[in-house]
Amino acid sequence: MSKSRLTTDSKSGASKSRPTTNPAPDFILQAHQLRKTFGETEAMRGISLDIQRGEVVAIMGPSGSGKSTLLHCLAGIIRPNHGTVTYFEQPATPLRIDQLSDAERTKLRRHQFGFVFQFSQLVPELTALDNVAIPLLLSGHSRAVAYDQAEHWLDRMGVHAKRHQLATKLSGGQIQRVAVARALAIEPQILFADEPTGSLDSLNSEKVMELFLHAARANGTTVIIVTHEPTIAAYADREIIVRDGQIAPDHLAANGPRSASASRPTVNQLASRLNSQEAHHER
Ligand code: ADP
Repeated sequence: MSKSRLTTDSKSGASKSRPTTNPAPDFILQAHQLRKTFGETEAMRGISLDIQRGEVVAIMGPSGSGKSTLLHCLAGIIRPNHGTVTYFEQPATPLRIDQLSDAERTKLRRHQFGFVFQFSQLVPELTALDNVAIPLLLSGHSRAVAYDQAEHWLDRMGVHAKRHQLATKLSGGQIQRVAVARALAIEPQILFADEPTGSLDSLNSEKVMELFLHAARANGTTVIIVTHEPTIAAYADREIIVRDGQIAPDHLAANGPRSASASRPTVNQLASRLNSQEAHHER
């Protein structure tokens, strides 16, 4: 499919966005000395990290080590008790995510960030196409542009043929592909993924990851992905290991590829549903 896309040209192309050895790195996200406690539990105990624009970073580590807490702080879903998270939409425009109000963080997440979770919740009574088009409609795109973009991204994720299927009729792998298409369609600056293929078998999981990261890299999207699977982390530019709420020295991935319409809810109903899905992940 060769649909023209109206918003991609403003973004960096893949060649510009890939991490380089440039001595003046172009950071998109910087976290400094993050701490977060839940009651007696210290989930993060002084985490600092820098992420370059266009980089694909895998956050790994044992269960309970603080990976999701870190991801949620970086994405502005939760606020750290201590430390800073700075987001650079442009190199010269630092924005302290940890200081934003709830409403500002919601707006930032809606317009600049994409999310894929382990059990991605599509709106069941809508088709795959509608599910991908909704965030585009909510962010103000015309119907024609939203559906054009949605078709394009479903095609890129290999599920264009399923576009008119209701979400309830899709397989687990198809659901995750549609969820990735939905997250990438708004062309986020950063895509946050928490065990995005954790509910799939390993073959499906690798296929989805390959398509996902290929599309993200081609679009210059920065990706931060929590996973416990080394085969998935191998697709990243860099692995960050979290243990007991702290970062172990990071290292490069060794050998990864571098490279039913009558009962449709209204847009407002869908907006509140999306909000409650996000709230589900807020703590
Ligand atoms: P991981 O993603 O590595 O499995 P998490 O970041 O989910 O780890 O959790 C780190 C620690 O913080 C764990 O001990 C977990 O039980 C605790 N924790 C995380 N979220 C909450 C919460 N909302 N309430 C209480 N404890 C939490």
